[in-house]
Amino acid sequence: MIFQAHLHVLEPAKMIPVFLVWILAMAISLILLFTKKLTKLLSIAILTVSFIVTGLIFGAMPNPVFPIQNIAVGINMNAPLQQLLPLAVILLVLIVTTILFGRIFCSYACPLGAIQEIMSKIQFKTSLKAQKKEKTIPLNSKIASYIRLGYFILFIGAGIIWGASVIQYLNIFIGLQIFANPLFPMIVIPAVLLGIIIITSILVYRPWCRLFCPFGTIAGFTSRFSKFVLCRTEDCTDCGLCEKICPTQEAELDSKKGECYLCNRCVEICPQNAIVYKTK
Ligand code: SF4
Ligand code: SF4
Repeated sequence: MIFQAHLHVLEPAKMIPVFLVWILAMAISLILLFTKKLTKLLSIAILTVSFIVTGLIFGAMPNPVFPIQNIAVGINMNAPLQQLLPLAVILLVLIVTTILFGRIFCSYACPLGAIQEIMSKIQFKTSLKAQKKEKTIPLNSKIASYIRLGYFILFIGAGIIWGASVIQYLNIFIGLQIFANPLFPMIVIPAVLLGIIIITSILVYRPWCRLFCPFGTIAGFTSRFSKFVLCRTEDCTDCGLCEKICPTQEAELDSKKGECYLCNRCVEICPQNAIVYKTK
């Protein structure tokens, strides 16, 4: 197996439970979104299960950046197409979910997205009164997406030019191996970076997702074409509360929703109950 020397190898038996949790987390949160039954408590419960099971127990293996990482390394090593195909299929399936349902994978299934969302709930509140006391750092979405695109190019470039020896340090999901596989040799740098990201998430909403994640770069683009999105109905009085509470400036009427993490803050704050998850 060409990646064995450098990377944790995907074993189908270990992947199945992770895929099952991904599917369950996405299905349950979609049902709750469609039926407007997604409460803060329920979302924390789904996020916690996703993080503990796929992140801590299974060490985030696979993770959404892994296929991108290994395709780049595979190109560097001239790997045969059939070795890259399963990775490409995983990536494609995740991309298809973004075209159908927006960032539903990022919202509730991804372990790194889940821990950042949980940490964000310490400060990023769902009431404007509480929001005034927040000591958060806003990110300009446009600048953030340029930084992320730069990281994406660096990530792919590092994999294609230098192979696994460099790219594996740029995927902080590998840091989650610290619990599942503490003797895994290259976890120290990703684990330290992961710790910094988790702590920063208290001040900055989803810093890894919005500034660095290579899958986030792809999903931020493809989810702009998503079939289902959070929309305002005719009951909207244009009070602007949803825009004030949204941590990613995606509640505006003309927003493309590429950075909407379906966090539900806009739905919860709307006094008219005028935000629904439906087809565009
Ligand atoms: S942007 Fe990346 S890290 Fe964030 S939730 Fe999506 S896949 Fe996970
Ligand atoms: S529009 Fe903003 S507040 Fe509403 S779900 Fe999306 S990210 Fe959250």
